[in-house]
This record gives sequence, C-alpha cells and structure tokens, in this order.
Amino acid sequence: MPMPFSILADTFEKLERVTARTQMLLYLVELFKKTPPDVVDKVVYFLQGKLWPDWKGLPELGVGEKLLIKAASIALHVSEPQLEQLAKKLGDIGRAIEKVKAEKAKKTQAVGLLAFMKAPGGQQTGLTVEKVYDTLAKIAMAQGEGSREIKLKLLAGLLAEASPKEAKYIARFVEGKLRLGVGDATIMDALAAVYAGSASMRSIVERAYNLRADLGMIAKILATKGIEELKHVKPEVGIPVRPMLAERLNDPAEILRKLGGRALVEYKYDGERAQIHKKGEKIWIFSRRLENITYMYPDVVEMARKGIKASEAIVEGEIVAIDPETGELRPFQVLMHRRRKHDIHVVLSEIPVAVFLFDTIYVDGEDLTVKPLPARHEILEKIIEPSDTWQLAKGIVTSSPEELEKFFLEAIENGAEGVMAKAMHERSIYQAGSRGWLWIKYKRDYKSEMSDTVDLVVIGAFYGKGRRGGKFGALLMAAYDPDTDTFKSVCKVGSGFTDEDLDKLGDILKPYIRDRKPARVDSQLKPDVWVEPALVAEIIGAELTLSPIHTCCYGWVRKGAGISIRFPRFIRWRPDKGPEDATTAKELYEMYKRQLRKIEASSAQGY
Ligand code: ATP
Repeated sequence: MPMPFSILADTFEKLERVTARTQMLLYLVELFKKTPPDVVDKVVYFLQGKLWPDWKGLPELGVGEKLLIKAASIALHVSEPQLEQLAKKLGDIGRAIEKVKAEKAKKTQAVGLLAFMKAPGGQQTGLTVEKVYDTLAKIAMAQGEGSREIKLKLLAGLLAEASPKEAKYIARFVEGKLRLGVGDATIMDALAAVYAGSASMRSIVERAYNLRADLGMIAKILATKGIEELKHVKPEVGIPVRPMLAERLNDPAEILRKLGGRALVEYKYDGERAQIHKKGEKIWIFSRRLENITYMYPDVVEMARKGIKASEAIVEGEIVAIDPETGELRPFQVLMHRRRKHDIHVVLSEIPVAVFLFDTIYVDGEDLTVKPLPARHEILEKIIEPSDTWQLAKGIVTSSPEELEKFFLEAIENGAEGVMAKAMHERSIYQAGSRGWLWIKYKRDYKSEMSDTVDLVVIGAFYGKGRRGGKFGALLMAAYDPDTDTFKSVCKVGSGFTDEDLDKLGDILKPYIRDRKPARVDSQLKPDVWVEPALVAEIIGAELTLSPIHTCCYGWVRKGAGISIRFPRFIRWRPDKGPEDATTAKELYEMYKRQLRKIEASSAQGY
C-alpha cells in the first residue's frame, strides 16, 4: 500500500517543534504505525536526512542553492530574484517556497478553480513516500553531461506536485538542512516499540544495527520479517560493522586490574583504522567513521587479496605510513597526505603503508563477534598470510604492570601512540558499536617536544631492507657522558638520509667498524656491526621520549628507562666535531625537562 508523503511532512513539522525526547519518541511511534512495512527503510533514511548510508559511496543529491531556486521558480512560476529575496527575508528557501505555494493556492481557490486543483489549500496530494524517494534517488544518480538539466526537471516536477508543506520539506532535504534532531537511538526505540511490541526488544535492534550499519535495512527486516529474524542477523561482507571502542586509563596496574589481571597488550598504531572486507576477489575498506575508503588504498586492497586465506572475511587493522627502506613507522600526519593528494599512484610510491591487524569479526559464514578475544585472535592468525607490510599487531600477553609499562615505552619510541590493552577472559567478546572496559587505551600524558637538533655519535650500524638490502640503512646513535667517559645509546636513525648519503655510508664507516662492542660504548641494543665512537651527526626528532631500551640517562627520569628520540631524522654529518663534543647525557636530560608539556585533552583524544 502506498504511503502518502503528507504523513511524513506532518511528522517533520511536529518533530521540528518538539523539545522533549519522550515526545519525539511518541511522534516516531505514531509515524511507524502508519508506515507500511515495505517502505519503512525509506522513512528511516528520510529521518536520518539522507538517501542511503554514507558508506555505500553512492552520489549525494548534488543540488546546490542555485539549482533549487531555479527548480522552484519553474515549479511556482515566479522569478528567481523574487524567490531569493523572500528566502533571505524568511531565512530559509524551504519557507519561501511554502509561502509562495500557499498564496498561489489561495488565489486559485478564490477564482473558483478548486475542482481542478491537485493540492487545494495544500494538504492532500498524490505524492507518496516512494515517489519522492525514487525521484530524489534519480536526481542523485544523474551524473555527467546533461545531468544538471535532468536534476532540474525532476526537482521542478516534484515541487510542482507537492503541497506547500511537502515542498518545504523536500527543499530542506535537498539542501541538507532537514535538521530534525532525531538520533539513531530514538529511531531504534520507536522501531522496537512498534514492530517488536516492546521497548525491551530494543537491544536486539541495536545489536543488529551494530553488526550492519544500515538502519533502514534493519528496520525493513524487522518490519517485514519480525524480531526473530533480526535476532539471527550476522555481519555481512560489504556492509560495515560499527567498531568496538576503548576506554582510557593511564596506570598499568589499574589497567590490568580492570581487565581481570591478564591482558593482550598491543602497540596502538598511529594511523587510520581499517575494517577490511573480503569476498572472493572483491575487497572493501571502511574507515573508523564507516566511510568507504577503498579507493584511497589500492595497495592495501592488493595486500588483503593475497593476505587473507578465507573466501569471505572481515578483519580489522590499522593502516600506518612506513619508511619503505627501514620498515619504521611514520607519524600519522604523513598518512593524511594520502587524503589530500589526488593522484593516488604518485601517493602509493611516496607514502607507502603497512597494515597491522588486530581483530577479526567474521569468517566464512561465522559471526565471530560473540567469541572471546583469544579465540578470535587464533582465527586471525590462521587466516592471515603475513608479509613485511601485512602482519599482526605487535603484542605481548602479560599480567605484570612493569612489563606492560616497559612495552608501552618501547611502543612509543618505535612510533606508536601507546598501547591497547585487551581483556582475554571468557566475556571478552567483540562489542560492536560500543565503548567499554574490554579494551583500554594507554597513551602518554606528557610529551617532550624536540625543538632543537642534537649532535650524536655513531656507535653501530644496521643493514637496510628492501632496495637497501646488503647496504647500511640505519645507525645506532649515542650521547656522550663525560662523568663516566662513555657513549650511551639514544636512538636508531634510519630516516632523513638521501640515496647518496646511504651509498657513501659503507665507506664512511669502514675505518671504524669493530667486531665487538667498543670499550667506551654503553648499549643494550646490539647493532649488526659495532662502530668505534668517532663520527658525529646532527639529528632532529619529533619528541624526546622515555625508552626501556636505550641507556642514555637510564633511571634519571624513571626507573628502568632512559631517554630516546621519537621519529629521529639524520640532518647532516658534523665533521667539525669530535665524539667528546657531542651532546651530553646531561644536556639531553635538561632538554627533556624543559620541553615537557602536558598533552591537552583534545589532542590526547587523537584526531
Ligand atoms: P575514540 O576512541 O575516542 O573515538 P579514536 O578513534 O581517535 O578515539 P582511540 O580511542 O584513541 O581512537 O583509540 C582507538 C583506536 O586506536 C582504534 O579506533 C584504532 O584505530 C586504533 N588502534 C591502533 N592500534 C590498535 C590496536 N592494536 N587495537 C585496537 N585499536 C588500535
């Protein structure tokens, strides 16, 4: 049975005026009671102010203010400037259209043409929800040459046929200004009350929506097939699952207590969350906000095709920019260049990425969200074929706060944002769409910005990877400690070198290479070759950080940790300096203290 669009327009009008959520709920319940089951999806999309979920990647309406005014002027037989002026006066094109239409209708009635009018006084018209929706969908889908004319014609037709009130809401919808203030939560409450017979069924509706982020589709299953069918909804490849989110704490002991004493602690990579779906050869990538971002990552699409050994799967991971030569992580800002640049093929070589996988939601027909984390992880390990750029997130299982802290410091030094600690007990399911205490993020409170360069001494070298295989690709650097007359390790630097620098590295280091650790060198980290302290280089980084690995200033700021540099970069050689002229441990300590700043709550939330 067709549903008159006027029912929707009347509800919009009531919703606009409402101030209490309970009243809003009542209006929605009333609306759904009048909605035939097979159009409920369209009604839900209208309430959400969109034609379809964003992740579908379908075109938006593509009607600007100009086109809307033009369409209205054709439909209403008034000039564009006249409409523009009225819209300015009333503050809204929708209201201007409504007013002109209502006045015209009155005049026509007055001259006795009532019998021929489709919309006398503007109430009941022949417009149905289906017709409005389908016409708007056609408007959106009109693309390319001649599309402006098509959009104009369709919209003018719709506005001509509509009553004044209907026209107002169609105009607002088209403009993206249908601000009803109805949240998904209220829509779900109303759906449960009407179609499931009780508000207590709400959690089933919500669970289904969390597993398939398409509220229109969920409403339709519920209205046409019933709540029992909804109970059996599973994730479906190609439809994003709403992500599980973490709470935040900053004390390792408390984190472990909250998680039941033992946890999987993983690097919290600083990149973009990716929910990767695979069905045969087809791959989709959805972002944290459920946008379809597949087109931005053709390289990840390839990795997923080769790296998932299941015919159907949904896995989650973090996409991170990396240095292709060393495999080191690069800051989040580097990755964001991908969003800004348009030529994706240039970006692919300029900003290579790696994916670190941390969960799986669905594999070959099985809904894994109900399984505890260790079981999900086991499946993830089985279906992943790892490579340099496609691997599991680095993690440890621990019940020791000290070990957690050490891993946290190591993670930061290696370019991560901190760690994610995850419960492993029987109830550690994948809580789609909710933030809870099963995952706890542990990020820094403070950071010590690095505003100045330092001069450090080479004490070791590492062989490169990839293109650089067989040649040196990174150096182990140290500060000088005059009190003990030793060189204490600070960081491993593999970025900032030009190809020429790297080509020369072998020759530069050759005279100083030793087969065992030189006597004055103090380092826990063992490089591929040791180097006698002689060569000084200028280094900059993003921050000074605490490190459990490096020996410079060990124990000075915190027990069990030295001072290191995050994202270090080589600037140039300092042949004018001898090793004892390098930056000293004390100087680094002073810099650390001087530049220590509390991370503001906003930036601590990430992006
Ligand atoms: P919020 O959770 O407040 O919405 P956010 O989306 O910026 O903020 P955070 O809560 O700070 O993210 O951290 C959770 C995010 O960390 C995940 O969404 C994911 O993108 C990222 N992440 C990185 N590494 C992991 C990991 N090993 N496990 C889970 N999430 C990870």
